[in-house]
Amino acid sequence: MNRSLLLGLGLLAACSVDQGYEADSGDSFDEAPEATDDRTLPGYGRPFDFGGTVWQDQKEFVESGLRCGNEMTHFEYVAMEAELAANPAYQEALERAEQGAYRAATSIPVYVHIITKGTSRADGNIPDSMIAEQISILNTAYAGTQFSFNLVSTDRTTNASWYVAGPDTAAEAAMKTALRLGGKNSLNIYVSNPGDGLLGWATFPNWYASAPKDDGVVILNESLPGGTSAPYNLGDTATHEIGHWLGLYHTFQGGCTAQGDLVSDTPAERSPAYGCPTGRDSCKGKYFGVDPISNFMDYTDDACMDRFTLDQAARMTAAWSTYRD
Ligand SMILES: [Zn+2]
Repeated sequence: MNRSLLLGLGLLAACSVDQGYEADSGDSFDEAPEATDDRTLPGYGRPFDFGGTVWQDQKEFVESGLRCGNEMTHFEYVAMEAELAANPAYQEALERAEQGAYRAATSIPVYVHIITKGTSRADGNIPDSMIAEQISILNTAYAGTQFSFNLVSTDRTTNASWYVAGPDTAAEAAMKTALRLGGKNSLNIYVSNPGDGLLGWATFPNWYASAPKDDGVVILNESLPGGTSAPYNLGDTATHEIGHWLGLYHTFQGGCTAQGDLVSDTPAERSPAYGCPTGRDSCKGKYFGVDPISNFMDYTDDACMDRFTLDQAARMTAAWSTYRD
């Protein structure tokens, strides 16, 4: 959804927005320093068995696009920033939040939709205990933000087509139209098996007004805590996708540029990190140090990620008060 619209807006908006965000840096991808040599990282060249496919190594899996369905082109993210920049309410909220203005504690109502292709665990029928543990993981991950998560209901639907529905498909639209509950402040989590190892995807808050039924996140069932999708089975796929749902980009969005992911306290990062490459510095010496590999919005293993930053929390606060409050 909205992707072609975003692209069109991006083409229209690219010039003016680029002036706004890049005028002070003068950087380009070409001028950025050499990347870390991934061949020195653990796991390089070691087969990575995930989602029914044996990848050459974990790097190949991560670069396939299956780690998260929310990879945005430069034009798409420029277009989204243009939309946010054109909203005075958002800009004012962001300024206030970045100055540390009080943030009211917000309990987000959560509706979980389990999609199965049958009755067994292998058919996607995961137990309530894993859902409860997922909510607990979310509340720990977001403890430094204004947000907490309150499970309101869980429903289960057997539908072989919805079970494997990927992003921007007719099956996804049918599933969400039939099942979505609550208003703009309600988090709908669809738990399924989109296939090929795709871990999940999410909608952004500023998309809600034009596509309310599409709003929510879809995650791989076995990514829930206690699932089988190691090394992504500690529940942080949901943490990551909900970060998008609350308005965050990937930490590597924008690459080695000053604006990067539009969050000032996440160091610039040339490309996604995978595994847990301590000390990786893919934009060597530029923009505040080593890569934010422990950030929930990177692509590292669940065991490697444990934080959001203060400015990410501020961005989520601004998006919430503008689009979901
Ligand atoms: Zn993502």
